[in-house]
Amino acid sequence: MLTMLPQLIIGAADLAAAFLFLYGLQRMASPVTAPSGIFVAGLGMLVAILASFLYAFDVNEAARPYLLVNIALALVALAVGGGLAWWSGKKVAMTSMPQMVALYNGMGGGAAGAIAAVELFGGKANGATQLIVTLLGALIGAVSLSGSLIAWAKLDGILKQPLRIEGQQILNLAVMAATLAVGGYIVFVTLAGGVPVLAMPALIGLFFGLALVFGILMTLPIGGADMPVVISIYNAFTGLAVGLEGFVLQNPALMIAGMVVGAAGMLLTLLMAKAMNRSVGNVLFTNFGTVAKHKKSDMPGSLKPAEAGDAGIYMRYAKNVIIVPGYGLAVAQGQQKLYEFVKLLQSAGVAVKFAVHPVAGRMPGQMDVLLAEAGVPYDLIFQLEDINDDFASADVALVIGANDVVNPAARSDKASPLYGMPILNADKAKHVYVVKRGGGAGYAGVENALFYGDNCNMVYGDAQAVLVKMIEAVRGLGLSAAA
Ligand code: NAP
Repeated sequence: MLTMLPQLIIGAADLAAAFLFLYGLQRMASPVTAPSGIFVAGLGMLVAILASFLYAFDVNEAARPYLLVNIALALVALAVGGGLAWWSGKKVAMTSMPQMVALYNGMGGGAAGAIAAVELFGGKANGATQLIVTLLGALIGAVSLSGSLIAWAKLDGILKQPLRIEGQQILNLAVMAATLAVGGYIVFVTLAGGVPVLAMPALIGLFFGLALVFGILMTLPIGGADMPVVISIYNAFTGLAVGLEGFVLQNPALMIAGMVVGAAGMLLTLLMAKAMNRSVGNVLFTNFGTVAKHKKSDMPGSLKPAEAGDAGIYMRYAKNVIIVPGYGLAVAQGQQKLYEFVKLLQSAGVAVKFAVHPVAGRMPGQMDVLLAEAGVPYDLIFQLEDINDDFASADVALVIGANDVVNPAARSDKASPLYGMPILNADKAKHVYVVKRGGGAGYAGVENALFYGDNCNMVYGDAQAVLVKMIEAVRGLGLSAAA
Protein backbone atom coordinates (compact mmCIF):
# COMPACT_ATOMS: atom_id res chain seq x y z
CA MET A 1 0.00 0.00 0.00
CA LEU A 2 1.10 3.54 -0.62
CA THR A 3 2.32 5.31 2.45
CA MET A 4 0.42 8.37 3.57
CA LEU A 5 2.74 11.08 2.15
CA PRO A 6 3.00 9.89 -1.48
CA GLN A 7 -0.77 9.25 -1.41
CA LEU A 8 -1.42 12.82 -0.31
CA ILE A 9 0.94 14.23 -2.92
CA ILE A 10 -0.66 12.10 -5.67
CA GLY A 11 -4.13 13.24 -4.63
CA ALA A 12 -3.13 16.92 -4.63
CA ALA A 13 -1.27 16.58 -7.95
CA ASP A 14 -4.25 14.83 -9.59
CA LEU A 15 -6.54 17.61 -8.41
CA ALA A 16 -4.14 20.24 -9.78
CA ALA A 17 -3.81 18.33 -13.09
CA ALA A 18 -7.61 18.08 -13.41
CA PHE A 19 -7.96 21.81 -12.81
CA LEU A 20 -5.24 22.58 -15.39
CA PHE A 21 -6.85 20.25 -18.02
CA LEU A 22 -10.23 21.90 -17.63
CA TYR A 23 -8.89 25.45 -17.47
CA GLY A 24 -6.69 24.75 -20.51
CA LEU A 25 -9.66 23.35 -22.43
CA GLN A 26 -11.78 26.36 -21.53
CA ARG A 27 -9.05 28.68 -22.92
CA MET A 28 -8.93 26.62 -26.13
CA ALA A 29 -12.50 27.71 -26.88
CA SER A 30 -11.30 31.00 -28.41
CA PRO A 31 -8.54 31.41 -31.02
CA VAL A 32 -7.19 34.36 -28.99
CA THR A 33 -6.59 32.33 -25.82
CA ALA A 34 -6.01 28.91 -27.47
CA PRO A 35 -2.16 29.01 -27.49
CA SER A 36 -2.05 29.64 -23.73
CA GLY A 37 -4.80 26.99 -23.27
CA ILE A 38 -2.58 24.40 -24.92
CA PHE A 39 0.29 25.44 -22.66
CA VAL A 40 -1.88 25.17 -19.51
CA ALA A 41 -3.23 21.72 -20.49
CA GLY A 42 0.33 20.58 -21.24
CA LEU A 43 1.35 21.75 -17.78
CA GLY A 44 -1.47 19.63 -16.35
CA MET A 45 -0.14 16.64 -18.25
CA LEU A 46 3.35 17.25 -16.83
CA VAL A 47 1.98 17.39 -13.27
CA ALA A 48 0.06 14.10 -13.85
CA ILE A 49 3.16 12.39 -15.27
CA LEU A 50 5.38 13.49 -12.37
CA ALA A 51 2.75 12.31 -9.87
CA SER A 52 2.52 8.92 -11.57
CA PHE A 53 6.13 8.22 -10.57
CA LEU A 54 5.00 8.14 -6.96
CA TYR A 55 2.96 5.02 -7.74
CA ALA A 56 6.34 3.29 -8.04
CA PHE A 57 6.45 3.26 -4.23
CA ASP A 58 3.31 1.12 -4.20
CA VAL A 59 5.13 -2.15 -4.73
CA ASN A 60 5.19 -5.33 -2.74
CA GLU A 61 8.33 -6.83 -1.19
CA ALA A 62 8.98 -9.16 -4.14
CA ALA A 63 8.97 -6.30 -6.64
CA ARG A 64 11.05 -3.89 -4.55
CA PRO A 65 14.44 -4.89 -6.06
CA TYR A 66 13.08 -3.89 -9.48
CA LEU A 67 11.96 -0.44 -8.36
CA LEU A 68 14.90 1.44 -9.84
CA VAL A 69 14.84 -0.60 -13.04
CA ASN A 70 11.13 0.17 -13.49
CA ILE A 71 11.66 3.88 -12.89
CA ALA A 72 14.57 3.86 -15.36
CA LEU A 73 12.37 2.09 -17.95
CA ALA A 74 9.61 4.66 -17.47
CA LEU A 75 12.14 7.48 -17.92
CA VAL A 76 13.48 5.90 -21.12
CA ALA A 77 9.89 5.53 -22.45
CA LEU A 78 9.20 9.17 -21.56
CA ALA A 79 12.38 10.34 -23.28
CA VAL A 80 11.64 8.33 -26.44
CA GLY A 81 7.93 9.30 -26.61
CA GLY A 82 8.49 12.92 -25.56
CA GLY A 83 11.47 13.28 -27.92
CA LEU A 84 9.53 11.90 -30.88
CA ALA A 85 6.54 14.14 -30.11
CA TRP A 86 8.80 17.21 -29.78
CA TRP A 87 10.57 16.39 -33.04
CA SER A 88 7.38 15.66 -35.00
CA GLY A 89 5.60 18.72 -33.56
CA LYS A 90 8.45 20.96 -34.74
CA LYS A 91 9.06 19.23 -38.05
CA VAL A 92 5.61 18.36 -39.38
CA ALA A 93 4.30 20.77 -42.02
CA MET A 94 1.02 22.57 -41.37
CA THR A 95 -0.61 20.51 -44.13
CA SER A 96 0.43 17.24 -42.46
CA MET A 97 -1.06 18.17 -39.06
CA PRO A 98 -4.26 16.18 -39.71
CA GLN A 99 -2.23 13.03 -40.33
CA MET A 100 -0.27 13.70 -37.13
CA VAL A 101 -3.51 14.13 -35.17
CA ALA A 102 -4.79 10.83 -36.60
CA LEU A 103 -1.56 9.09 -35.57
CA TYR A 104 -1.70 10.57 -32.07
CA ASN A 105 -5.32 9.42 -31.73
CA GLY A 106 -4.20 5.94 -32.73
CA MET A 107 -1.37 5.98 -30.22
CA GLY A 108 -3.70 7.05 -27.42
CA GLY A 109 -6.06 4.18 -28.28
CA GLY A 110 -3.11 1.79 -28.54
CA ALA A 111 -1.77 2.91 -25.14
CA ALA A 112 -5.19 2.29 -23.54
CA GLY A 113 -5.33 -1.12 -25.26
CA ALA A 114 -1.83 -1.91 -23.99
CA ILE A 115 -2.83 -1.13 -20.39
CA ALA A 116 -5.82 -3.43 -20.82
CA ALA A 117 -3.58 -6.15 -22.28
CA VAL A 118 -1.26 -5.98 -19.25
CA GLU A 119 -4.25 -6.23 -16.91
CA LEU A 120 -5.83 -9.15 -18.81
CA PHE A 121 -2.76 -11.23 -19.69
CA GLY A 122 -1.35 -10.50 -16.21
CA GLY A 123 -4.60 -11.76 -14.64
CA LYS A 124 -5.19 -8.61 -12.60
CA ALA A 125 -8.69 -7.91 -13.91
CA ASN A 126 -10.84 -10.60 -12.26
CA GLY A 127 -13.69 -8.84 -10.45
CA ALA A 128 -16.88 -8.24 -12.49
CA THR A 129 -16.65 -4.44 -12.84
CA GLN A 130 -12.89 -4.51 -13.24
CA LEU A 131 -13.06 -7.16 -15.96
CA ILE A 132 -15.90 -5.59 -17.94
CA VAL A 133 -14.40 -2.10 -17.82
CA THR A 134 -10.98 -3.45 -18.86
CA LEU A 135 -12.48 -5.33 -21.81
CA LEU A 136 -14.52 -2.28 -22.87
CA GLY A 137 -11.40 -0.10 -22.75
CA ALA A 138 -9.51 -2.77 -24.72
CA LEU A 139 -12.24 -2.90 -27.36
CA ILE A 140 -12.53 0.86 -27.84
CA GLY A 141 -8.74 1.36 -27.65
CA ALA A 142 -8.04 -1.35 -30.25
CA VAL A 143 -10.75 -0.05 -32.61
CA SER A 144 -9.38 3.49 -32.40
CA LEU A 145 -5.80 2.24 -32.94
CA SER A 146 -6.47 0.36 -36.19
CA GLY A 147 -9.19 2.79 -37.37
CA SER A 148 -6.94 5.81 -36.81
CA LEU A 149 -4.15 4.17 -38.81
CA ILE A 150 -6.54 3.73 -41.74
CA ALA A 151 -7.70 7.36 -41.28
CA TRP A 152 -4.03 8.43 -41.35
CA ALA A 153 -3.48 6.51 -44.61
CA LYS A 154 -6.57 8.15 -46.14
CA LEU A 155 -5.54 11.64 -45.08
CA ASP A 156 -2.01 11.04 -46.34
CA GLY A 157 -3.35 9.96 -49.72
CA ILE A 158 -1.89 6.44 -49.38
CA LEU A 159 -5.44 5.05 -49.52
CA LYS A 160 -7.07 7.11 -52.21
CA GLN A 161 -10.53 5.60 -52.63
CA PRO A 162 -12.98 4.26 -50.07
CA LEU A 163 -12.72 0.47 -50.18
CA ARG A 164 -16.12 -1.18 -50.22
CA ILE A 165 -17.20 -4.73 -50.77
CA GLU A 166 -20.59 -6.32 -51.31
CA GLY A 167 -22.26 -6.97 -47.94
CA GLN A 168 -19.85 -4.68 -46.09
CA GLN A 169 -22.31 -3.76 -43.33
CA ILE A 170 -23.20 -7.41 -42.66
CA LEU A 171 -19.51 -8.30 -42.43
CA ASN A 172 -18.87 -5.38 -40.06
CA LEU A 173 -21.83 -6.42 -37.93
CA ALA A 174 -20.63 -10.05 -37.85
CA VAL A 175 -17.12 -9.03 -36.74
CA MET A 176 -18.52 -6.75 -34.04
CA ALA A 177 -20.89 -9.50 -32.85
CA ALA A 178 -17.99 -12.01 -32.75
CA THR A 179 -15.84 -9.54 -30.74
CA LEU A 180 -18.63 -9.00 -28.22
CA ALA A 181 -19.31 -12.75 -28.04
CA VAL A 182 -15.67 -13.54 -27.26
CA GLY A 183 -15.58 -10.72 -24.67
CA GLY A 184 -18.84 -11.98 -23.14
CA TYR A 185 -17.49 -15.53 -23.01
CA ILE A 186 -14.32 -14.36 -21.21
CA VAL A 187 -16.47 -12.54 -18.63
CA PHE A 188 -18.80 -15.54 -18.21
CA VAL A 189 -16.02 -18.12 -17.79
CA THR A 190 -14.14 -15.87 -15.35
CA LEU A 191 -17.12 -14.93 -13.18
CA ALA A 192 -19.34 -18.03 -13.36
CA GLY A 193 -16.69 -20.66 -13.97
CA GLY A 194 -14.11 -19.23 -11.60
CA VAL A 195 -11.38 -19.58 -14.23
CA PRO A 196 -8.78 -16.84 -13.80
CA VAL A 197 -8.69 -14.54 -16.82
CA LEU A 198 -4.98 -15.12 -17.39
CA ALA A 199 -5.77 -18.79 -18.18
CA MET A 200 -7.37 -17.65 -21.48
CA PRO A 201 -4.53 -15.98 -23.42
CA ALA A 202 -5.73 -17.29 -26.80
CA LEU A 203 -9.25 -15.91 -26.28
CA ILE A 204 -7.88 -12.56 -25.10
CA GLY A 205 -5.65 -12.46 -28.21
CA LEU A 206 -8.66 -13.30 -30.40
CA PHE A 207 -10.67 -10.54 -28.73
CA PHE A 208 -7.96 -7.96 -29.49
CA GLY A 209 -7.51 -9.30 -33.04
CA LEU A 210 -11.24 -9.04 -33.82
CA ALA A 211 -11.43 -5.52 -32.37
CA LEU A 212 -8.47 -4.42 -34.51
CA VAL A 213 -10.09 -5.93 -37.63
CA PHE A 214 -13.35 -4.16 -36.80
CA GLY A 215 -11.56 -0.79 -36.62
CA ILE A 216 -10.09 -1.40 -40.09
CA LEU A 217 -13.39 -2.57 -41.61
CA MET A 218 -15.34 0.27 -40.08
CA THR A 219 -13.00 2.95 -41.49
CA LEU A 220 -12.15 1.55 -44.94
CA PRO A 221 -15.54 2.29 -46.58
CA ILE A 222 -15.79 5.85 -45.26
CA GLY A 223 -14.83 8.32 -47.91
CA GLY A 224 -16.10 11.27 -49.80
CA ALA A 225 -15.94 14.20 -47.49
CA ASP A 226 -16.82 12.34 -44.29
CA MET A 227 -13.33 12.09 -42.84
CA PRO A 228 -13.75 15.04 -40.41
CA VAL A 229 -16.43 13.04 -38.57
CA VAL A 230 -14.19 9.96 -38.50
CA ILE A 231 -11.18 11.84 -37.12
CA SER A 232 -13.20 13.38 -34.32
CA ILE A 233 -14.93 10.11 -33.48
CA TYR A 234 -11.58 8.37 -33.00
CA ASN A 235 -10.52 11.31 -30.88
CA ALA A 236 -13.56 10.65 -28.68
CA PHE A 237 -12.96 6.86 -28.65
CA THR A 238 -9.36 7.35 -27.55
CA GLY A 239 -10.43 9.56 -24.67
CA LEU A 240 -13.10 7.08 -23.64
CA ALA A 241 -10.68 4.14 -23.73
CA VAL A 242 -8.09 6.06 -21.69
CA GLY A 243 -10.76 7.09 -19.16
CA LEU A 244 -11.91 3.47 -18.75
CA GLU A 245 -8.34 2.26 -18.24
CA GLY A 246 -7.83 5.11 -15.76
CA PHE A 247 -10.71 3.57 -13.80
CA VAL A 248 -9.08 0.14 -14.04
CA LEU A 249 -5.79 1.53 -12.70
CA GLN A 250 -7.66 3.71 -10.20
CA ASN A 251 -5.70 6.69 -11.52
CA PRO A 252 -7.88 9.84 -11.20
CA ALA A 253 -5.70 11.97 -13.54
CA LEU A 254 -6.04 9.39 -16.29
CA MET A 255 -9.79 9.10 -15.68
CA ILE A 256 -10.31 12.87 -15.85
CA ALA A 257 -8.02 13.40 -18.87
CA GLY A 258 -9.78 10.54 -20.66
CA MET A 259 -13.24 11.86 -19.86
CA VAL A 260 -12.30 15.40 -20.94
CA VAL A 261 -10.88 14.15 -24.27
CA GLY A 262 -13.81 11.76 -24.74
CA ALA A 263 -16.43 14.45 -24.08
CA ALA A 264 -14.64 17.08 -26.20
CA GLY A 265 -14.22 14.54 -29.01
CA MET A 266 -17.89 13.62 -28.84
CA LEU A 267 -18.96 17.28 -29.03
CA LEU A 268 -16.59 17.82 -31.97
CA THR A 269 -18.04 14.73 -33.66
CA LEU A 270 -21.56 16.12 -33.31
CA LEU A 271 -20.44 19.54 -34.59
CA MET A 272 -18.67 17.99 -37.57
CA ALA A 273 -21.67 15.77 -38.35
CA LYS A 274 -23.90 18.85 -38.14
CA ALA A 275 -21.52 20.73 -40.48
CA MET A 276 -21.87 17.88 -42.96
CA ASN A 277 -25.63 17.66 -42.34
CA ARG A 278 -25.38 13.96 -41.50
CA SER A 279 -26.00 11.84 -38.46
CA VAL A 280 -23.01 10.04 -36.99
CA GLY A 281 -24.76 6.71 -37.62
CA ASN A 282 -25.24 7.65 -41.25
CA VAL A 283 -21.50 8.30 -41.64
CA LEU A 284 -20.46 5.08 -39.92
CA PHE A 285 -23.05 2.59 -41.03
CA THR A 286 -24.21 3.49 -44.51
CA ASN A 287 -22.35 3.37 -47.75
CA PHE A 288 -22.44 7.11 -47.78
CA GLY A 289 -19.99 8.84 -50.06
CA THR A 290 -20.33 6.42 -52.96
CA VAL A 291 -18.40 8.38 -55.51
CA ALA A 292 -20.44 9.40 -58.53
CA LYS A 293 -17.77 11.29 -60.40
CA HIS A 294 -19.00 13.80 -62.89
CA LYS A 295 -17.04 13.81 -66.06
CA LYS A 296 -15.96 17.23 -67.26
CA SER A 297 -18.23 16.80 -70.29
CA ASP A 298 -21.28 16.56 -67.93
CA MET A 299 -20.73 20.12 -66.80
CA PRO A 300 -22.79 22.91 -68.33
CA GLY A 301 -20.72 25.91 -69.50
CA SER A 302 -16.98 26.15 -69.84
CA LEU A 303 -13.89 26.94 -67.81
CA LYS A 304 -12.78 30.54 -68.37
CA PRO A 305 -9.19 31.24 -67.38
CA ALA A 306 -8.14 34.72 -66.23
CA GLU A 307 -4.80 36.37 -65.48
CA ALA A 308 -3.92 36.80 -61.80
CA GLY A 309 -3.10 40.48 -62.32
CA ASP A 310 -6.44 41.20 -63.98
CA ALA A 311 -8.30 39.44 -61.16
CA GLY A 312 -6.35 41.47 -58.58
CA ILE A 313 -7.22 44.76 -60.29
CA TYR A 314 -10.90 43.75 -60.64
CA MET A 315 -11.06 43.16 -56.88
CA ARG A 316 -9.34 46.47 -56.14
CA TYR A 317 -12.25 48.25 -57.84
CA ALA A 318 -14.92 46.12 -56.13
CA LYS A 319 -16.95 47.38 -53.15
CA ASN A 320 -16.90 44.16 -51.21
CA VAL A 321 -15.03 40.88 -51.53
CA ILE A 322 -15.58 37.62 -49.64
CA ILE A 323 -12.62 35.25 -49.50
CA VAL A 324 -13.16 31.49 -49.19
CA PRO A 325 -9.93 29.80 -48.11
CA GLY A 326 -9.49 26.04 -48.50
CA TYR A 327 -7.02 23.23 -48.24
CA GLY A 328 -4.95 24.49 -51.23
CA LEU A 329 -4.13 27.71 -49.37
CA ALA A 330 -2.54 25.61 -46.62
CA VAL A 331 -0.65 23.54 -49.24
CA ALA A 332 0.68 26.73 -50.84
CA GLN A 333 1.38 28.34 -47.43
CA GLY A 334 -0.16 31.42 -49.00
CA GLN A 335 -1.78 32.85 -45.87
CA GLN A 336 0.75 35.69 -45.34
CA LYS A 337 0.51 36.82 -48.96
CA LEU A 338 -3.27 36.56 -48.78
CA TYR A 339 -3.42 38.92 -45.83
CA GLU A 340 -0.95 41.27 -47.55
CA PHE A 341 -3.34 41.36 -50.53
CA VAL A 342 -6.33 41.91 -48.23
CA LYS A 343 -4.61 44.87 -46.57
CA LEU A 344 -3.98 46.37 -50.03
CA LEU A 345 -7.65 46.00 -50.91
CA GLN A 346 -8.69 47.51 -47.58
CA SER A 347 -6.42 50.49 -48.10
CA ALA A 348 -8.23 51.04 -51.40
CA GLY A 349 -11.56 51.08 -49.56
CA VAL A 350 -12.71 47.54 -50.40
CA ALA A 351 -14.65 45.77 -47.63
CA VAL A 352 -13.15 42.29 -47.20
CA LYS A 353 -14.44 39.34 -45.20
CA PHE A 354 -13.27 35.75 -44.84
CA ALA A 355 -15.81 32.90 -45.00
CA VAL A 356 -14.66 29.74 -43.24
CA HIS A 357 -16.42 26.42 -43.77
CA PRO A 358 -16.30 24.09 -40.74
CA VAL A 359 -14.74 21.23 -42.75
CA ALA A 360 -12.43 23.31 -44.97
CA GLY A 361 -8.91 21.91 -45.00
CA ARG A 362 -8.11 18.52 -43.57
CA MET A 363 -8.57 19.14 -39.87
CA PRO A 364 -11.33 20.83 -37.84
CA GLY A 365 -10.33 24.46 -37.36
CA GLN A 366 -7.41 24.30 -39.83
CA MET A 367 -8.43 27.48 -41.71
CA ASP A 368 -8.91 29.44 -38.48
CA VAL A 369 -5.40 28.44 -37.39
CA LEU A 370 -3.98 29.31 -40.81
CA LEU A 371 -5.55 32.77 -40.86
CA ALA A 372 -4.60 33.41 -37.22
CA GLU A 373 -1.00 32.50 -38.11
CA ALA A 374 -1.01 35.25 -40.75
CA GLY A 375 -2.39 37.76 -38.22
CA VAL A 376 -5.82 38.17 -39.84
CA PRO A 377 -8.02 39.93 -37.24
CA TYR A 378 -10.78 37.68 -35.89
CA ASP A 379 -13.49 40.20 -36.69
CA LEU A 380 -12.83 39.65 -40.42
CA ILE A 381 -13.42 35.90 -40.10
CA PHE A 382 -16.99 34.58 -40.37
CA GLN A 383 -18.38 31.07 -40.03
CA LEU A 384 -20.75 29.60 -42.63
CA GLU A 385 -24.07 30.40 -40.98
CA ASP A 386 -23.03 34.01 -40.27
CA ILE A 387 -21.89 34.90 -43.79
CA ASN A 388 -23.76 32.73 -46.25
CA ASP A 389 -26.47 35.32 -46.89
CA ASP A 390 -23.85 37.99 -47.69
CA PHE A 391 -22.59 36.27 -50.85
CA ALA A 392 -25.64 37.40 -52.83
CA SER A 393 -24.63 41.04 -52.33
CA ALA A 394 -20.87 40.48 -52.72
CA ASP A 395 -19.14 41.91 -55.80
CA VAL A 396 -16.53 39.15 -55.75
CA ALA A 397 -16.08 35.76 -54.09
CA LEU A 398 -12.39 34.81 -54.16
CA VAL A 399 -12.22 31.03 -53.74
CA ILE A 400 -8.62 30.25 -52.98
CA GLY A 401 -7.54 26.60 -52.72
CA ALA A 402 -11.09 25.56 -51.83
CA ASN A 403 -13.26 23.19 -53.82
CA ASP A 404 -15.67 20.81 -52.02
CA VAL A 405 -16.88 23.48 -49.60
CA VAL A 406 -18.22 25.59 -52.51
CA ASN A 407 -19.54 22.75 -54.69
CA PRO A 408 -23.21 23.45 -55.59
CA ALA A 409 -23.77 19.72 -56.22
CA ALA A 410 -24.12 19.47 -52.43
CA ARG A 411 -27.44 21.31 -52.75
CA SER A 412 -29.11 19.43 -55.53
CA ASP A 413 -27.25 16.38 -56.85
CA LYS A 414 -28.45 13.32 -54.91
CA ALA A 415 -25.76 11.18 -56.53
CA SER A 416 -22.94 13.41 -55.28
CA PRO A 417 -20.95 12.28 -52.23
CA LEU A 418 -21.31 15.86 -51.02
CA TYR A 419 -25.13 15.88 -51.24
CA GLY A 420 -26.70 17.42 -48.16
CA MET A 421 -23.58 19.18 -46.88
CA PRO A 422 -24.19 22.89 -46.32
CA ILE A 423 -21.83 24.82 -48.59
CA LEU A 424 -20.59 28.38 -48.80
CA ASN A 425 -22.76 30.22 -51.35
CA ALA A 426 -19.80 31.51 -53.39
CA ASP A 427 -21.73 30.86 -56.63
CA LYS A 428 -24.27 33.51 -55.61
CA ALA A 429 -21.69 36.33 -55.72
CA LYS A 430 -21.78 38.68 -58.71
CA HIS A 431 -18.35 37.47 -59.79
CA VAL A 432 -16.24 34.50 -58.67
CA TYR A 433 -12.50 33.98 -59.02
CA VAL A 434 -11.24 30.48 -58.26
CA VAL A 435 -7.53 30.09 -57.61
CA LYS A 436 -6.18 26.55 -58.10
CA ARG A 437 -3.24 24.93 -59.84
CA GLY A 438 -5.11 23.01 -62.53
CA GLY A 439 -7.81 20.40 -62.94
CA GLY A 440 -7.34 18.78 -59.53
CA ALA A 441 -10.52 17.65 -57.77
CA GLY A 442 -11.29 18.37 -54.12
CA TYR A 443 -11.06 15.76 -51.36
CA ALA A 444 -14.37 14.15 -52.36
CA GLY A 445 -12.99 13.59 -55.87
CA VAL A 446 -15.86 15.19 -57.80
CA GLU A 447 -16.14 17.92 -60.44
CA ASN A 448 -17.41 21.32 -59.41
CA ALA A 449 -20.11 23.10 -61.47
CA LEU A 450 -19.22 26.43 -59.82
CA PHE A 451 -16.06 26.58 -61.95
CA TYR A 452 -18.15 26.39 -65.14
CA GLY A 453 -20.60 29.13 -64.14
CA ASP A 454 -21.06 32.25 -66.29
CA ASN A 455 -19.93 34.46 -63.40
CA CYS A 456 -16.74 32.47 -62.71
CA ASN A 457 -13.14 32.80 -63.88
CA MET A 458 -10.33 30.37 -63.09
CA VAL A 459 -6.97 31.80 -62.05
CA TYR A 460 -4.55 28.93 -62.47
CA GLY A 461 -1.41 28.64 -60.39
CA ASP A 462 -0.08 27.94 -56.93
CA ALA A 463 -2.07 30.10 -54.50
CA GLN A 464 0.99 31.89 -53.15
CA ALA A 465 2.41 32.64 -56.61
CA VAL A 466 -0.99 33.90 -57.80
CA LEU A 467 -1.27 36.20 -54.77
CA VAL A 468 2.20 37.63 -55.44
CA LYS A 469 1.04 38.53 -58.97
CA MET A 470 -2.22 40.04 -57.66
CA ILE A 471 -0.29 42.15 -55.15
CA GLU A 472 2.14 43.34 -57.83
CA ALA A 473 -0.73 44.27 -60.14
CA VAL A 474 -2.60 46.25 -57.47
CA ARG A 475 0.63 47.91 -56.29
CA GLY A 476 1.27 48.83 -59.93
CA LEU A 477 -1.84 51.00 -59.70
CA GLY A 478 0.00 53.14 -57.17
CA LEU A 479 -1.56 52.05 -53.89
CA SER A 480 0.19 50.81 -50.77
CA ALA A 481 -1.01 48.61 -47.93
CA ALA A 482 -2.63 50.34 -45.00
CA ALA A 483 -0.50 48.43 -42.51
P1 NAP B 1 -10.61 20.51 -51.25
O1 NAP B 1 -12.00 20.18 -51.63
O2 NAP B 1 -9.72 19.40 -50.82
O3 NAP B 1 -9.95 21.27 -52.51
C1 NAP B 1 -8.68 21.79 -52.43
C2 NAP B 1 -8.35 22.40 -53.78
O4 NAP B 1 -7.15 23.11 -53.63
C3 NAP B 1 -8.13 21.36 -54.87
O5 NAP B 1 -9.16 21.40 -55.81
C4 NAP B 1 -6.77 21.71 -55.47
O6 NAP B 1 -6.90 21.82 -56.88
C5 NAP B 1 -6.43 23.05 -54.83
N1 NAP B 1 -5.01 23.17 -54.47
C6 NAP B 1 -4.20 22.24 -53.96
N2 NAP B 1 -2.97 22.74 -53.79
C7 NAP B 1 -3.02 24.02 -54.20
C8 NAP B 1 -2.07 25.05 -54.26
N3 NAP B 1 -0.80 24.89 -53.90
N4 NAP B 1 -2.45 26.27 -54.73
C9 NAP B 1 -3.73 26.47 -55.15
N5 NAP B 1 -4.67 25.52 -55.11
C10 NAP B 1 -4.33 24.30 -54.63
O7 NAP B 1 -10.55 21.60 -50.10
P2 NAP B 1 -11.71 22.28 -49.24
O8 NAP B 1 -12.64 23.03 -50.12
O9 NAP B 1 -10.99 23.00 -48.14
O10 NAP B 1 -12.56 21.08 -48.66
C11 NAP B 1 -12.05 20.20 -47.66
C12 NAP B 1 -12.39 18.78 -48.01
O11 NAP B 1 -11.60 17.90 -47.21
C13 NAP B 1 -13.85 18.45 -47.72
O12 NAP B 1 -14.33 17.50 -48.62
C14 NAP B 1 -13.75 17.86 -46.30
O13 NAP B 1 -14.84 17.05 -45.95
C15 NAP B 1 -12.48 17.06 -46.43
N6 NAP B 1 -11.84 16.77 -45.14
C16 NAP B 1 -11.88 17.72 -44.16
C17 NAP B 1 -11.34 17.44 -42.93
C18 NAP B 1 -11.46 18.47 -41.82
O14 NAP B 1 -11.49 18.06 -40.67
N7 NAP B 1 -11.53 19.75 -42.15
C19 NAP B 1 -10.70 16.21 -42.69
C20 NAP B 1 -10.62 15.29 -43.74
C21 NAP B 1 -11.21 15.58 -44.97
P3 NAP B 1 -5.60 21.72 -57.81
O15 NAP B 1 -5.00 20.40 -57.55
O16 NAP B 1 -6.13 21.88 -59.21
O17 NAP B 1 -4.69 22.85 -57.42
